Amino acid sequence: MATSAPPRTSYPVPRTQTPDERGRFGAFGGAFVPEILHPVLEDLKRAWAEAQADDAFWAEYHRLLRDYVGRPTPLTRLDRLTERLGGATIYAKREDLCHTGAHKINNAVGQVLLARRMGKERIIAETGAGQHGVATATACALFGVECVVYMGTEDIERQNLNVQRMRLLGATVRPAESGSRTLKDATNEAFRDWVSNPDSTYYIIGSAIGPHPYPGLVRELHRVIGDETRRQLLEQTGSETPDAVVACVGGGSNAIGIWAPFVGDEDVRLIGVEAAGEGLGGRHAATLSRGEPAVFHGTRTYLLQDADGQVEIAHSVSAGLDYPGVGPEHAYLKDTGRVEVRTATDAEAMDGVRLLSETEGIIPALETAHAVAALPALAAEMGGAATIVLNCSGRGDKDMATISAWLDGTG
Ligand SMILES: *Cc1c(COP(=O)(O)O)cnc(C)c1O
Repeated sequence: MATSAPPRTSYPVPRTQTPDERGRFGAFGGAFVPEILHPVLEDLKRAWAEAQADDAFWAEYHRLLRDYVGRPTPLTRLDRLTERLGGATIYAKREDLCHTGAHKINNAVGQVLLARRMGKERIIAETGAGQHGVATATACALFGVECVVYMGTEDIERQNLNVQRMRLLGATVRPAESGSRTLKDATNEAFRDWVSNPDSTYYIIGSAIGPHPYPGLVRELHRVIGDETRRQLLEQTGSETPDAVVACVGGGSNAIGIWAPFVGDEDVRLIGVEAAGEGLGGRHAATLSRGEPAVFHGTRTYLLQDADGQVEIAHSVSAGLDYPGVGPEHAYLKDTGRVEVRTATDAEAMDGVRLLSETEGIIPALETAHAVAALPALAAEMGGAATIVLNCSGRGDKDMATISAWLDGTG
């Protein structure tokens, strides 16, 4: 388990996380897109500002989260894991129990509502693990909207069950054959489609990434995770705040969703766990730990690059963390020292799957398993009086083939 370098600038960060007018979080963020998309993003900004100010929008969103997604999700005290690790008391926020099996549906439902307000007839999305594709196809089926999902051919192979799900839900899955044939390439294809169909089409970005206003928009649609956690902690422990909140970081949406209501609480440690793949010396997806600032997919953020400044192919056993970029707000929170970044390798994530499955009867997604992998060291370090919340971002059913092959191979 590696720990990131000490923060470059000192704490505190401003309590508010709202980006400025141009969508900047400090030196990160913004909107770097082809000119044809400028008016489209302006429309989106306006529609989102109006929706945010409209109680009816939030009422409809929360009604769907309750009656369709299954919120609030439980906050589960993990007694056997706590006992096994012999340190801090650990709780899990159970996003694995959301309809479709992960947190991503919160965002998909919210953005489909927004697209409908804007009168858009057609929805496009990109997907890596297939979870965002499934969430988007699900929300589109719910409203009877046309849905096209771009997915790298490598991921189509790794995540075939999700491909079949999307098709059953009525979505068209378009393979992205370029580059590493994973999430970054699917994102390129989705941008290309959007540029060609800017008026008819709404692009649902699946994480807290991309050009302004997406990172802030996606954060606000996932903030419900952290808001519920605060209420549930108060009920269960008598305090609204834990000592640490741990989440895996791919693009960063489950992490920023659970962290958002805690960023202003200076005594709450926010810990993000990235995929170290084969190890930081080999192929990995540890963007905050090893990337450099660059413009990527419409935003200025950390990016994995080779010596020539070319985008490096990310690697993780988990398709949902296999992305060479990261949300611009995470870049900012890392640089200001507010968020601590750790990493877990593929092998450590597999240990995490086993640990949570055996002690708690919860088979986590491989993405989530990276956050689980950080718990043994953290629980010991923080000690018995501390409380840690794990964001259990998704369930592992989709990964069973990968998990079984790994466990068979290694024993
Ligand atoms: C997609 C996914 C992630 C990674 O995406 P973030 O935007 O970083 O949250 C994590 N966990 C699960 C279960 C996922 O499906």
